[in-house]
Amino acid sequence: MSEIPTRTRIVIIGGGPAGSLLAHLLHVRGIESALLELRSREHVLERVRAGVIEHESAEILRRTGLGKRMDEEGFVHEGVNLAHSGEMLRIDFQRLTGKHVTIYGQTELQKDLFDVVDADGVPLIDEAEGVRVDGIEDHSPAVGFTRHGREHTITCDFVIGCDGAHGVTREFIPAGARRTYERQYPFCWVGLLSETPPIDDELIYASHERGFALCSMRNEHRSRYYVQGPADTTVEEWPDDRFWSELTARLPEAVADGLVTGPSIEKIVTPLRSWVSEPLRHGRLFLAGDAAHVVPPTGAKGLNLAISDVVYLVDALAGNYDRGSTAGLDEYSERAMARVWKAVRFSWWMTTMLHRFPGMSDDFERRLQKAELDYLFGSENAQRAMAENYVGLPH
Ligand SMILES: Cc1cc2nc3c(=O)[nH]c(=O)nc-3n(C[C@H](O)[C@H](O)[C@H](O)COP(=O)(O)OP(=O)(O)OC[C@H]3O[C@@H](n4cnc5c(N)ncnc54)[C@H](O)[C@@H]3O)c2cc1C
Repeated sequence: MSEIPTRTRIVIIGGGPAGSLLAHLLHVRGIESALLELRSREHVLERVRAGVIEHESAEILRRTGLGKRMDEEGFVHEGVNLAHSGEMLRIDFQRLTGKHVTIYGQTELQKDLFDVVDADGVPLIDEAEGVRVDGIEDHSPAVGFTRHGREHTITCDFVIGCDGAHGVTREFIPAGARRTYERQYPFCWVGLLSETPPIDDELIYASHERGFALCSMRNEHRSRYYVQGPADTTVEEWPDDRFWSELTARLPEAVADGLVTGPSIEKIVTPLRSWVSEPLRHGRLFLAGDAAHVVPPTGAKGLNLAISDVVYLVDALAGNYDRGSTAGLDEYSERAMARVWKAVRFSWWMTTMLHRFPGMSDDFERRLQKAELDYLFGSENAQRAMAENYVGLPH
């Protein structure tokens, strides 16, 4: 690791996709920064998470020198499939929008990001514990932290909190100056990773009386499957046999016939929630990515929102340094949140349409859910609206 500076222009807290992309894009614009990460590099690189990269997110990665491995090893998906009442519908992104998505694991992207940050010469300070932020309402904030028992302080012009949903940076915004919005869903996803060929070339989202299921993949030999489970379930309650038989029961018979099962190599339980904290700015402190908003994974938007926040923020910071204009910084929160809320809506809509809600049997909401799916299956306009959101709204 390079030397820890005592002064830089921007201190970024959190070295996940938002923080490391921000450090790289700032470097591209000639703006110096330092990146603080709580965990070790190795830990960050091992986390298995998102996989769907929106059309424009992929373009941004390409334009900024991060597209090579994604284009070589990622998979272009020109559509997704929906299963409902024994039928399958393909939402054809390419025909409906002229765009596509790229399947490229977040773990791989994170590796590319750390590599480019190192090549840029940005100090990536991992195992930085007990981060504290002072003076965000003054001219020169200071970020203190401890590394391997030694105290450090970096003074800067701006502090950016990219420390994810469990981060601490937003807590430095006074409680009276921020507002949170939350929707907790009464179920979770049980996810299984296996060394088996995927059931299909594209993702399959299934709505079934027994609950939601998703068939996804990492590559030609590795599959990622999810089934909806009760909110309080644990991994121990899902031995492989139970998982595979539940998944099979939720897919149309003809599709399930093609399922190749095998031993799980990883199993997780993920709660689902929509959560937003705004505004994204207080004084000289800014937030980006999961530090300010979390969406259920149904719409594959979390990573993509982190990318779009960072793009807006880099524009705003570059305007400040290149032209001395603070207009971009003043507008950042509103500009980013306008896009975030549309993704919050889309993720909520997909989640609500495709899952079984406890207590929902033959009642009004269940009928509405069925009507929503029937409408989507029968209307090209509805399919286009879904495709437009899935491939990503313009930045
Ligand atoms: C199981 C799972 C599946 C997902 N699937 C999808 C998907 O299919 N599609 C999709 O788009 N999104 C998905 N997401 C969401 C996506 O992974 C996140 O939206 C994305 O990681 C956000 O990036 P980020 O950099 O904002 O936050 P994070 O990736 O959470 O990074 C934050 C970083 O900050 C560090 N940090 C935390 N606290 C501190 C501190 N106090 N000091 C310093 N550093 C700190 C953390 O260690 C971490 O490295 C999934 C998430 C999970 C958990």
